[in-house]
Amino acid sequence: MQKSIFILFISLLFLNCKNEKETNGKLNVVTTTTMITDLVTNIAQDEVNLQGLMGSGVDPHLYKASEGDVTKLYNADLIFYNGLHLEGKLVEVFEKMKNKKTIAISAAIDKNTLIGSDYFASNYDPHIWFDIDYWKEVAVFVEYYLSEAIPEKSAVFASNRKVYIEKLNKLKKEVYDKIDELPQEQRILVTAHDAFNYFGKAFDFEVVGLQGLSTATEAGVQDVQNLSNFIIEKQVKAIFVESSVPKRTVEALQAAVNSKGHHVTIGGLLYSDALGDKGTIEGTYIGMFKYNVNTIVNALK
Ligand SMILES: [Zn+2]
Repeated sequence: MQKSIFILFISLLFLNCKNEKETNGKLNVVTTTTMITDLVTNIAQDEVNLQGLMGSGVDPHLYKASEGDVTKLYNADLIFYNGLHLEGKLVEVFEKMKNKKTIAISAAIDKNTLIGSDYFASNYDPHIWFDIDYWKEVAVFVEYYLSEAIPEKSAVFASNRKVYIEKLNKLKKEVYDKIDELPQEQRILVTAHDAFNYFGKAFDFEVVGLQGLSTATEAGVQDVQNLSNFIIEKQVKAIFVESSVPKRTVEALQAAVNSKGHHVTIGGLLYSDALGDKGTIEGTYIGMFKYNVNTIVNALK
C-alpha cells in the first residue's frame, strides 16, 4: 500500500502541469457524502472544481476509498468530510494526507449540543445533517473555508450562502407544517439504523434504529425480537427501509411483528446517509428532506 501510494505520488508530480490546465485554474474541492457535496455545490456554485466521492445509495460507514478516490484526494486543494467517524474507513486515508487541507464539517457544531454515542470513537452521533439548524451552521462554516481559500470570491460565496439559508428556513417551516398533521403519540420512527436521532430531537419523534448507530454492526435475533415487541406495544403502523442499507433486516423485523399477529407495513424508503440519484428532486438535501417527511407522515398517520 505504501509503495503504491508512493508510485502514485510520483506519477502525480508528472501529471501536475496537465492537471492545472484541465481545471482552468479553479480550486479542486473534494467532498465525501452526497449531503456535503450538495451543500458545497450550493455555496460554491461553479467557482470551484467539485468532486464528490460517494454517490446515491452509498453507505458512508462502510465506504472504502478506491484508487480513483486516492487520486482525487491527492489532487484536492480542499477536502470537506463529515467527521465524527461517519466515514469510518476513510480516516486512515485522511491521516496519510496531513499536508492537505481536510475539513470536518461537524466541527461547525458546538459539541455540547451533539447527541452522545458509545459506539463511535468520537463519542458522538455523526448524523448531524438531519437537524436543519445544524445544516445552516455548516453552510456558514463551508462559506468561511471557501472564502479563506479564494478571497476574491468571498462576496459570491456570502451571497450564495444567504440564498441557501433562506431556502433552509423555508424548508424547516414546511417540515413543521407537515409533521403537524401527525398526532404526538404516532410520532414513532422505526428505521434500519439509527440515523434519525437528530431528526427526532428537532421534530419531537421517538426514534429507534434496528442496527444501531452504524451499519457496521449487524442486528441480532434479540434486537429483532425486542423491537418487534416495542412495535406491537406502541401500535406502530409502519416501519421504514433506507436507501443505503440492505432491506433484509427491516423485512425480518416486519416478519417478526406479523408472526405475532400484529400488522406492520413497510412505510417506504427513506434517504438516511445518502441522497437520491443526481438530477432528481431527492438528489438534493432539500428534496430529500421533504421526501422523507412526506413518506414518514403519510405512512404513520
Ligand atoms: Zn448512518
